[in-house]
Amino acid sequence: MLRVNECCWYQPGKYFRYNAGVFLSRGQAALIDPGMTVNELAAICQFLAEEEAQVCVVILTHFHWDHQLGAGLDWGKVRLLAHTRFGEEFTRHLTANRAAIDSWATEAKEVISALNLHQEILPVDIDTPINLGGLRLRPVYTPGHTADHLSIFEETTGTLWAGDILSDVEIPFVSSSLTDYLRSNQCLQGLKINSLVPGHGSPAKTEEDVRQRLENDRVYLQALADQAQASIFAGCSMLETVERCSGINYRFPAENENAHRWNTESAYVELGGEARVGPVGWQKEWLQ
Ligand SMILES: [Zn+2]
Repeated sequence: MLRVNECCWYQPGKYFRYNAGVFLSRGQAALIDPGMTVNELAAICQFLAEEEAQVCVVILTHFHWDHQLGAGLDWGKVRLLAHTRFGEEFTRHLTANRAAIDSWATEAKEVISALNLHQEILPVDIDTPINLGGLRLRPVYTPGHTADHLSIFEETTGTLWAGDILSDVEIPFVSSSLTDYLRSNQCLQGLKINSLVPGHGSPAKTEEDVRQRLENDRVYLQALADQAQASIFAGCSMLETVERCSGINYRFPAENENAHRWNTESAYVELGGEARVGPVGWQKEWLQ
């Protein structure tokens, strides 16, 4: 596992630039989105054994299948926590989640242990820090990517486990709400974050890097909102709006072109545009 600072480690994954997280202090550990492959989970277990750490809590940042692949393991007597909306989102997308896991597991030929419905998932108290060996892990509600999205902010060191936001490789995947996503970005701008780890990509290890990452996403999201809104006012169709928004700057265009198109289509509908045919934008994610 790789160290971010004195209390936070991450296990970089073989697929999707995925990161699983551990907060650790005085022999007490919190696992964040443990996954994805057998080898990665073994590395996490080895690290915990070497540190003689006891897992006290497992926190899932959101319901997406790639973030729950280690939650089904027997971590002992631990609390499994997620946002209060996790249950309904997990159940609503259960078939698609399972299909994605099956298809990925077949392709990757890796055995994983997904969450099962018999596990009791407790809702986190938003903004109420969880004490962990002197650390204070505050769950921060950051919807926009999904409706149940959480980030975890360790207050004593200013360390943010971001979840599926603030990546340096992916653009914002606005699969729930652009308005919420912008509000979540603004909420995080109010925290003094010294370092952050995204669910996919590389950590930002200085306050300036963190600020830049927040700003990059804010600029992209605001440009998307402004241009989609202007197109709707001008009476443009969804297709014309996609064309008008294709000039917005975003990182790694080859990899993120499809996500940007889906962001635009979803924003068009969210902001009041009328799509004549469906499914639209991120609704298509679960159809592939
Ligand atoms: Zn996700």
